[in-house]
Amino acid sequence: MASRAGIVVTGTEVLTGRVPDRNGPWLAEQLRIVGVDTAEVIVVGDRPDDLRWSLRALAEQGLDLLITSGGLGPTADDLTAEIVGEVQDRPSVVDAELEQQIGAIVARLSAERGWQLDAAATAHAVRKQALVPVGASVLSPVGTAPGLVVPVADGRTGPLVVVLPGPPPELQAMWPLVLADAAVQSALAGRSELRQQTLRLWGTSESEIAATLRELGMRLDPLEITTCLHDGELEIVTRFGPSAQATYDSFAAAIGERYPETLFSTDGRTVDDLVADRLMEQNLTIATAESCTAGMLAARLTDRAGSSAYLLGGLVVYSNAAKQELAGVSKDLLDQVGAVSAEVALALAEGARDGLHADLGVGITGIAGPGGATPGKPVGLVHLCVSGNGRTMSRRILVPGSRAAVRTRSTVAALHLIRQLLTQ
Ligand code: ATP
Ligand code: MG
Repeated sequence: MASRAGIVVTGTEVLTGRVPDRNGPWLAEQLRIVGVDTAEVIVVGDRPDDLRWSLRALAEQGLDLLITSGGLGPTADDLTAEIVGEVQDRPSVVDAELEQQIGAIVARLSAERGWQLDAAATAHAVRKQALVPVGASVLSPVGTAPGLVVPVADGRTGPLVVVLPGPPPELQAMWPLVLADAAVQSALAGRSELRQQTLRLWGTSESEIAATLRELGMRLDPLEITTCLHDGELEIVTRFGPSAQATYDSFAAAIGERYPETLFSTDGRTVDDLVADRLMEQNLTIATAESCTAGMLAARLTDRAGSSAYLLGGLVVYSNAAKQELAGVSKDLLDQVGAVSAEVALALAEGARDGLHADLGVGITGIAGPGGATPGKPVGLVHLCVSGNGRTMSRRILVPGSRAAVRTRSTVAALHLIRQLLTQ
């Protein structure tokens, strides 16, 4: 059976959404890789009572391991180490060796960065960060804050608590030390591997998949399947133990048989990965002319390192004048059919392709809203076109929702159109 863990992410800035949580999802994925199932992620503000309560509530669920992130710094609202010590019934004392180590790090950073620190305040802050619950092991600092592995007091039962710093690069750099810790290893002993596979579909609805899952029914028993819609793509994420690999393989094959046109990824690759891989395999270059997405497609195409091998450039042609001057769309065409039309999407694709001497050109033109609708052209109407390498493919889509949704979905739809042109 897989071990189970709980995660407590601390920080008022995360609770209020000012900073999106990067630690909870990252830790859950790292835990899964080592065969640990995450039962719950709780986000709490920098309030001692809330942290205490969430640690106790998770401990009562009989979990093997709890991990906290954040609240290890020198300021008064950094309380995690102390509260974890209290919950585990282990009073904190200053670890003299650690105090020296942190003092040296702070001195080095001050010298490097030219900080003018008050000596007494610094000594106080360093001492605070060197407080360690008795019987805990210390994970060497990556920044200034050390991590901690805190077992429950002798004679009591409860999960092991791992305390990690909040800044994501520090937390991530400390992870190998967590896995190497003897107490962590014994808490996780006997765990079995937990596999995860993702299928991605474009153009199949969640209700169709739900019906298919119902039909396959009992045969899927050992698999934990979740589906989610993601910018118009349907993701099926399945988790299972090694003994269910054959069941998963036949499930993936059944989805492939039922949805041969829409299943586009079975190995975890995203549409961005597939487009980049196919452009490189076929040694093709691409250029874009974007109106309503104003460069979002070009930005997606350059997310991967090495994208200069295929993306030559992109035009942002928001106004009609820019469409004419930069992408060579004729004024007559714009007057006749309007900027949001299949004809102009084609002219943009050809203009980008020929103007930048690329193999393929992509045109996107649409009404992102909330204003700008005209009779016959509602908000969310977008025309897309990819042209080159002897083929042209066009799409008209109608995207519901906000301006941001229309722009993102149009970008994703354009990536799929490129993928389809490169596949057929
Ligand atoms: P510090 O010594 O920097 O105070 P700390 O361990 O006390 O370290 P926090 O004070 O909780 O960590 O967080 C420091 C900064 O790290 C936050 O302001 C935030 O920018 C970032 N951070 C913390 N937690 C998260 C999180 N869950 N997701 C993303 N960023 C985070
Ligand atoms: Mg802090």
